[in-house]
Amino acid sequence: VQHSGGNSVCFYTPEMAAAATRRMLLTMHLAHAIERRELHVVYQPIVEAVTGRVASAEALLRWTHNQLGPVSPAEFIPVAEESGLIVPITDWVLTAVVAQMAAWLVEGVLPSRVFINISGQQFLRGNLTHRLAELLEGHPGLEKRLGLEITEQAAVRDLKAAVRTIAELAAIGVIAAIDDFGSGYSSLSYVQQLPVAKLKIDRCFVEDVPENTKNAALVRAAVGMAHGLGLVVVAEGVETPEQQDFLKSVGCDLLQGYLFGRPMLPADFAALIRKQQPA
Ligand code: C2E
Ligand code: CA
Ligand code: CA
Ligand code: CA
Repeated sequence: VQHSGGNSVCFYTPEMAAAATRRMLLTMHLAHAIERRELHVVYQPIVEAVTGRVASAEALLRWTHNQLGPVSPAEFIPVAEESGLIVPITDWVLTAVVAQMAAWLVEGVLPSRVFINISGQQFLRGNLTHRLAELLEGHPGLEKRLGLEITEQAAVRDLKAAVRTIAELAAIGVIAAIDDFGSGYSSLSYVQQLPVAKLKIDRCFVEDVPENTKNAALVRAAVGMAHGLGLVVVAEGVETPEQQDFLKSVGCDLLQGYLFGRPMLPADFAALIRKQQPA
């Protein structure tokens, strides 16, 4: 319980203490995750709404510690951000994904784009474009196959920096997508100022469409607005054929969710791409 005002007093509950201990433990172990080879990347397919073909992939980080077991990125990414470990971790992810893409290109199974999540801190700090250009140097053509996802909340936190970084990235061929659209409280006029190529509608709006008529109306409006701005729209968290039908009917361009595939190991993703290629 936290009281603020004149005399502010804070009470720490046992739950809060436990959470703090857990964060400390995670920070300690996460610091060694790279050297101990505990990180790996999985890939989730993103399909064309109309044809069902896999068009792109989202790279998602996984951490498995030998005692703690798998730790969700929803838990360890915030810890990485707080501790500064996000800097080497992001570098590791970028390096791993570019290497995977180069291998897939040779094998003929590289999807048209692979998207990497970048935390707001990293995105707004600058230097990202420079580092990416460096990583892509030995791989001509790959820059046009890479995309970055940045959350709506991070992008509007420092709009100027975000606009600058997105433009820099675009200049080297890397496109940006706004992630978790709708989950923040930003106005559309902010989003409209970002030179992004794609908008990803947050899972919480997709979860209960079409039954939830409010969310259905919001999704419909978001798709209309995005198309009006010339953006491609992706819906996240698609789990049922009913959601798929609705999203298709309102003109959503791309769909992502368990219905089409969970985040999977690179070999499984490659097999999925091969399966849809003409023999
Ligand atoms: P996100 O970027 O919004 O990623 C989508 C999350 O939704 C992923 O969770 C994915 O596994 C999950 N998901 C996909 N389809 C469905 C579905 O149909 N139903 C449900 N219930 N969930 C679905 P994941 O992999 O646990 O990642 C959680 C968050 O952690 C991501 O949210 C992203 O913000 C962050 N994250 C993951 N990898 C990275 C990374 O490499 N760097 C950074 N900075 N953040 C990352
Ligand atoms: Ca994402
Ligand atoms: Ca998202
Ligand atoms: Ca999210």
